Amino acid sequence: MKPIEMVDLKSQYKRIKGQIDTSIQKVIDNTSFINGPEVKQFQQELEEYLDVKHVIPCANGTDALQIAMMGLGLEQGDEVITADFTFAATVEVIALLKLTPVLVDVEAETFNIDIEALKKAITPKTKAIVPVHLFGQCANMEAILEVAKEHNLYVIEDNAQAIGADYTFANGTKQKAGTIGNVGTTSFFPSKNLGCYGDGGAIFTNDDDLAHKLRGIVNHGMYQRYYHDEVGVNSRLDSIQAVVLSAKLPHLDAYCNARRNAAKYYNNAFKASKNIITPSVTYNCNKNGNEICDTCNCHVFHQYTLRVIDVDRNALHQHLLDNNIPCAIYYPVPLHSQKAYADERYNEADFPVTNELIKSVISLPMHTELEEDQQDFIAKTILNFINK
Ligand SMILES: *Cc1c(COP(=O)(O)O)cnc(C)c1O
Repeated sequence: MKPIEMVDLKSQYKRIKGQIDTSIQKVIDNTSFINGPEVKQFQQELEEYLDVKHVIPCANGTDALQIAMMGLGLEQGDEVITADFTFAATVEVIALLKLTPVLVDVEAETFNIDIEALKKAITPKTKAIVPVHLFGQCANMEAILEVAKEHNLYVIEDNAQAIGADYTFANGTKQKAGTIGNVGTTSFFPSKNLGCYGDGGAIFTNDDDLAHKLRGIVNHGMYQRYYHDEVGVNSRLDSIQAVVLSAKLPHLDAYCNARRNAAKYYNNAFKASKNIITPSVTYNCNKNGNEICDTCNCHVFHQYTLRVIDVDRNALHQHLLDNNIPCAIYYPVPLHSQKAYADERYNEADFPVTNELIKSVISLPMHTELEEDQQDFIAKTILNFINK
């Protein structure tokens, strides 16, 4: 058995090494490191893949969120609602821009923002909702769009974990994650589903005026060289990262499939255990209850995250590490309890789900190169621990 890794980027690279090495060398030969034609080319390829009018590449997924909020003209004191159970970048940029973060509870089944909690959190100061498509599955966008419309709010999709995922509306139409709200953002951090070999990110929108504004903001607020119309930032995707992404984009659907197949294999291994809840796939495309669809990308499994019941989760985590199985707790602390974001506005009673999830979740190795003997070993080690 190959040693198990949380994310196996090396084996993935080896499959496309020729193309990657050649295209990186070409950038070096041309010394077109910043804003080379490769960046524009990747931008167009991604626009086509996502079926979105505008992709604005930038330096990373955190910048993408910040720039999206700047582009929408959100101002100090505006309230922005997001999920309590996510990576801190989402709330970090809200705070950094002196907007007021409002954290709300999530659904236990999908780990995504809870619609009732979202509705309850809306006040006259609310300006935007930031659903995070956590672990590779879209939040309940149909309900979110409805709430946003009723209260005249912007929807900013944090799509760092779900690029390539489809969202199916009740009427059967599908749209790519990140292209459904007013604006979507993503990260090309190496371990993400579409990762480059350094930092990278992008913003998506179908709104021409917003796209124009965002293209200025990423480039020091310049629309004409050395004329600065507004306060911007410096946030670029460099050409070497763009060629890596162009080499990987044609494989993204296959990558998502490989992840989904690995998830199915895990699901099957755990289905007899009363102590394990496998990740839920709950949206409109799904005719098979909780099973993973064969044909659609409704969940792209950035993470494969279990909930364990009546099991000492921390001891299980340690047991797996002791058996050379890398695994992780995403996330061990809810954002409302983080030192940086704690606030007397928050009431513990409003976060029953996140407060429970932090004690019961565990994310297993998940990547495009997982092999069945590795998954058998992982599952056996977990089940032996639970049933001992
Ligand atoms: C990774 C991630 C980000 C940040 O992306 P970076 O490229 O690391 O800045 C933001 N939000 C979520 C949900 C993420 O998973």
